[in-house]
Amino acid sequence: MAGRVLLLVALVVLGGCVAFSGSPTSGPDVSSSTATGPDDPREPSTLVVGIDAPGSRAFEPPVRRALAYWERNAERYADAPMTFRLVPDAADPDVTVAFVPTIDDCGAHEHTAGCAPLLTDSATADDAEVRVLDDLSNASTSLVVEHELGHVLGLDHGDAPQAVMAPRTTLTTRPEPDASERALPWASSTLSVFVERRTGPNASGTESTVGGRTAPGDRTAGDRTAAGERGVRGEQIEHALGYYARGAGGTVPENVSFERAASPENADVVVRFADHSPCGSDRGSCGSVLGTDPDGDGALETHTKLTITLTDLDGEAVGWHVARWLGYGFGLDGREYPPVLRESASYGERRSAWWSTA
Ligand SMILES: [Zn+2]
Repeated sequence: MAGRVLLLVALVVLGGCVAFSGSPTSGPDVSSSTATGPDDPREPSTLVVGIDAPGSRAFEPPVRRALAYWERNAERYADAPMTFRLVPDAADPDVTVAFVPTIDDCGAHEHTAGCAPLLTDSATADDAEVRVLDDLSNASTSLVVEHELGHVLGLDHGDAPQAVMAPRTTLTTRPEPDASERALPWASSTLSVFVERRTGPNASGTESTVGGRTAPGDRTAGDRTAAGERGVRGEQIEHALGYYARGAGGTVPENVSFERAASPENADVVVRFADHSPCGSDRGSCGSVLGTDPDGDGALETHTKLTITLTDLDGEAVGWHVARWLGYGFGLDGREYPPVLRESASYGERRSAWWSTA
């Protein structure tokens, strides 16, 4: 059933320092290391896990989730505590997770979605290769990797936990790729953009205060005219769009382009300047993505509208915030962002000519 999902996240300014709240589609990072307490006399074996994946899709997050599952459960089900070290491009990994377009030669351990050797002594796992289809959703990818790693740990289809080790017919249904896994999550490579100027009684004023509060570091220069400030913002937005039109450091397809929309209703991307943030924070930026979820997996398959709301943000930081949200609209997450647009960017870097440095 088709559905529409609205995701809303905040980018807030805290005491002159900008913090990006992160995207709601990414869960907390799962640690792949496990502490071995004094009650456990057995040192866990550590397997180095590599990833073999042509193309640009980031498979680390779903693989990491599968490794975390077995770190929690290997001792119980495979009778051996286990830790993993994920080294995507490891030269000599113990286990390689290879993402492949088809699997048609898996012998007895058939799966349309994955294939692994059944190792009866996990301590000798060495040079094992697990194959997993490369077009599954991230959630399904985690499930298949869990199952195949179970084989590597010596478990067969009749073994516990059946939730993982039973052959699963549902995995043969390949969901449509989520927006974050597509090269371009929009229906067209040309996006229309509408910049909505703030209206209302404060429209001509400076934007340095909301509710009487100021953050000195982000205060708009007092001698700058409102018109000048609007000019700065316009230039900043142009820099952000131009950066993506040039491929954003290789993170989006090179054929991306932008055009002006006549109205916000007709625009793919709307940039708004508002007194109050829809995210509830007083300052900073807030973004929302509207899209479709035809396969009902809770992730957007195609984006249809990106709305960026800037609240009480100094002009020199407008481009960075717009670019950060454009990345969100293009499905970037975490380290998929070009370095200059990662949340680790400093206060100064966000107000620099970052678009010319990467
Ligand atoms: Zn199997």
